[in-house]
Amino acid sequence: MAVHKASSLSCVYDAVVVGAGIQGSFTAYHLAKRGRKTLLLEQFPLPHTRGSSHGQSRIIRSAYPKDHYVAMMQRAYQLWAVLEAEAGTSLHRPTPMLVLGQQQNPTFQSYWQTMQRLNIPSEVFTPQALAEKYPEIHPQAGEMAVADLTAGVLYPDKALRAVQEQFRRSGGTLRDGEKVLSILPGDAVTVTTNQGEYRAKSLVITAGPWTSHLLAPLGLQLPLQPLRIHVYYWRAKGPGTCSHVEHLPCFLGINLNQSAHDIYGLPSDEYPGLVKICCHTGSPVEPDRPDQLDPASAVPDLQILRGFLRNYLPGLDPEPALEERCLYTNTPDEAFILDRHPRFSNIIIGAGFSGHGFKFGPVIGEILCEMSLGEEPPYDLAPFRISRFHASPKAAL
Ligand SMILES: Cc1cc2nc3c(=O)[nH]c(=O)nc-3n(C[C@H](O)[C@H](O)[C@H](O)COP(=O)(O)OP(=O)(O)OC[C@H]3O[C@@H](n4cnc5c(N)ncnc54)[C@H](O)[C@@H]3O)c2cc1C
Repeated sequence: MAVHKASSLSCVYDAVVVGAGIQGSFTAYHLAKRGRKTLLLEQFPLPHTRGSSHGQSRIIRSAYPKDHYVAMMQRAYQLWAVLEAEAGTSLHRPTPMLVLGQQQNPTFQSYWQTMQRLNIPSEVFTPQALAEKYPEIHPQAGEMAVADLTAGVLYPDKALRAVQEQFRRSGGTLRDGEKVLSILPGDAVTVTTNQGEYRAKSLVITAGPWTSHLLAPLGLQLPLQPLRIHVYYWRAKGPGTCSHVEHLPCFLGINLNQSAHDIYGLPSDEYPGLVKICCHTGSPVEPDRPDQLDPASAVPDLQILRGFLRNYLPGLDPEPALEERCLYTNTPDEAFILDRHPRFSNIIIGAGFSGHGFKFGPVIGEILCEMSLGEEPPYDLAPFRISRFHASPKAAL
């Protein structure tokens, strides 16, 4: 993609969005569709693989242990369908997702009860029913599963291309390879990049793992922890051992074997014959130096996954066939941050998507767009407020 030269003169926009991952791209898309003059800035030439939104597969699901996420997902499904229609292409494929866990586990119970209460199309699997439908999966004593029948696999690279393309078609400007260096708050926010200077009525920061780099000079410290995630793909041990890897469901294993870490999996798709199975956690890292792990805080994910495969999917070879990387940006409670800067109300922050934000992209973008236009989004946003961390802005600025 071409890098555009910014004018040395100040350009005035209705909104500038920093970061063209899935959240920033959808925010810019909604702003442009509502007729706002919008600039989307991305530090790296697009497409890139250094943040969180790249790759070939993400799980989309309604199943969540808390109602507010389910309400947002209902809107997200509608908006994904709108983008698919605009782009004239499919951005996901339906695939049930099993939530697997001990029947008495409180988190497992919350998933199950929420699905029942909110009438999410679902199917309950006793161990026997699971063995009949998915003989490759071996639940342990006391475990059962509930399938979310609305779930599926999203195609992130394709989705990101589609939303950025529709943003441009709606009149938006996307400049990639252009890094935001500083932000000066005011009635009009001034943004300085390595190529120019822009002014905007509002600014949306959706900078993924780099968010703290932009917020610290604005006097705001948020508990955001970038984590390096290893994405593993596994193959069947031999003919007949796990022969239907394309037909496995997506799954989310909750605290299996008393583990503190959840494990998730997706059926074979992007690499024929290889199943994607990962730990829903990673090792703390600085996003500009993702190769420098501190051995003291590194998570033994491979060891955890090998143990899981031996017990639950013994037909798969416990040596990964392929490894890729990605970054999460976690908050302590793994809930997102969707809020205004406590001192500068025309600076909006969308961050901390904690490894589960992709599926929400269209609705997060809509919420951040509405906030930047001074509107009240129609959701319970209390769980996503900055004040839950008792963060107090410093006196600086
Ligand atoms: C391995 C893995 C599996 C996942 N699985 C799922 C899943 O199954 N389902 C699901 O819903 N979610 C999943 N997620 C989470 C989801 O992908 C993320 O929550 C989402 O992509 C976060 O998007 P983002 O836009 O916030 O961040 P990013 O994609 O990181 O985008 C931020 C962008 O900001 C840019 N930027 C930063 N600083 C600047 C600056 N100063 N100037 C200009 N640009 C800047 C960055 O370069 C980057 O492109 C997964 C994530 C990973 C890593």
